[in-house]
Amino acid sequence: MGLNELTIRQATEGLKKRDFTSRELVEECLNHIEKIDPQIKAFITVTTDYALEAANRADSLISSEGEKAFNKKPLLGIPYASKDNFCTKGIRTTAGSKILEDFVPPYESTVTKKLEEAGSVLVGKTNMDAFAHGSSTEESDFFTTKNPWDLQRVPGGSSGGSAAAVISDMCIFAIGSETGGSIRGPASWCGVTGLKPTYGRVSRYGLIAMASSTDSPGPITKNAEDAALVLSVLAGKDPLDATSSPNDVKDFTALSKESLNGLRIGKPKSYFDLDIQLDVRKKMEDFLEFLESQGAEIIDLDLMDPKYSIAVYTILQRSEVSSNLARFDGIRFGRDRDNFNFENKKRMMLGAYTLSSGYYEAYYARAQKVRTLIIRDFEEAFSKVDILVGPSMPCVAPELGESKDQPMFGEMMDVLTEPSTIAGLCGITVPVGLSGQGLPVGAQIISDRFDEKIILDIARYYQESTSFHQGRPSV
Ligand code: GLN
Repeated sequence: MGLNELTIRQATEGLKKRDFTSRELVEECLNHIEKIDPQIKAFITVTTDYALEAANRADSLISSEGEKAFNKKPLLGIPYASKDNFCTKGIRTTAGSKILEDFVPPYESTVTKKLEEAGSVLVGKTNMDAFAHGSSTEESDFFTTKNPWDLQRVPGGSSGGSAAAVISDMCIFAIGSETGGSIRGPASWCGVTGLKPTYGRVSRYGLIAMASSTDSPGPITKNAEDAALVLSVLAGKDPLDATSSPNDVKDFTALSKESLNGLRIGKPKSYFDLDIQLDVRKKMEDFLEFLESQGAEIIDLDLMDPKYSIAVYTILQRSEVSSNLARFDGIRFGRDRDNFNFENKKRMMLGAYTLSSGYYEAYYARAQKVRTLIIRDFEEAFSKVDILVGPSMPCVAPELGESKDQPMFGEMMDVLTEPSTIAGLCGITVPVGLSGQGLPVGAQIISDRFDEKIILDIARYYQESTSFHQGRPSV
């Protein structure tokens, strides 16, 4: 087994025991990137020199302080990849757009700063749909990332580069961001674990804004245990982001689920009534059966039809985009506005329309009201059940080019994730097996705001009893 194939927990144990150095671990990831990324195209920028220096620093700390070094720096020496919409000081940050092709931020995002302070080593910045507008990476202005399970298919998006990098072991973990499905979607199509934390749990400072009222940074990892480790580093109030929450940060890594006895699982009827691919449906049944066999109770639940969430998301996301992207005016920074791609322009124009006087009440204000109804609908659900379970995506990864024929591809694919993002909830996707064509299927577990602990625990419990998360494509 190559060092690059390890999980965070395994790599940390090896570093502590001095079985290998951080330099060796980082070099194996960099070599693997050099070997397979020309096919996968997960990275926009590979930060070789920066990574080797950071690995050397980690190694000297380990030799001077020994295991103690890991108390202050829980991710010491661990190579990771960041989606290219997190500003990294001195390292090019493009958000997947030509507008920012040469942008080198003068400051660091809180997420990447916390990861650096925790000792982890950035190996590169990953591909994404430009400004995170999309669910395939086909809207990236640079290139499309390929799904490592089948190079003729998309990895999902917008954090597609991050998910593809993790499943093909080019890094130990990665960071993504989700506005409407951009962590859970690609994680599900690539067969990795993706955690979308509660809105406000993780600071947005230095994340290039998409829709500020739902943007949520989160980890994409090889298993749920690693997701808990990374969330423990990222979570917490940040004075630089007024919407970050002062809520207590629990110890996400302490496993507290020894059985699922008494767990009430809501199965939303409206989610399963959708047009879901047969293989996905079958894997979901197996997943629910497993949970039930472990003592959980499955409760059929009436939840609002996701079509309302899609309508609300479409209006609010475009409105916020038209305001957020106005800063890229080619004067302060960034290139000329002509460099926005068609998808970006379409969204900005629609948003300008929904916010314009005369239409504001009919679209933006009304969407906000429906958003409140959706939030209440979830609140009512969580008075009856502990968690909700459903497919993460309605189908397996589509073929390259399919998104281009569907103007609402991002919404259609994220129909099952957008409801919980607009309500600000947390959710995790875990791999639950392969379809007949050998493509990964993901199931999501959704919980109430600030209840990441329960979904992480259930995901870990599941992964301790099954091995779907250990499946790898043969690239
Ligand atoms: N479906 C969403 C969109 O296309 C996904 C975006 C996201 O979460 N960043 O807008």
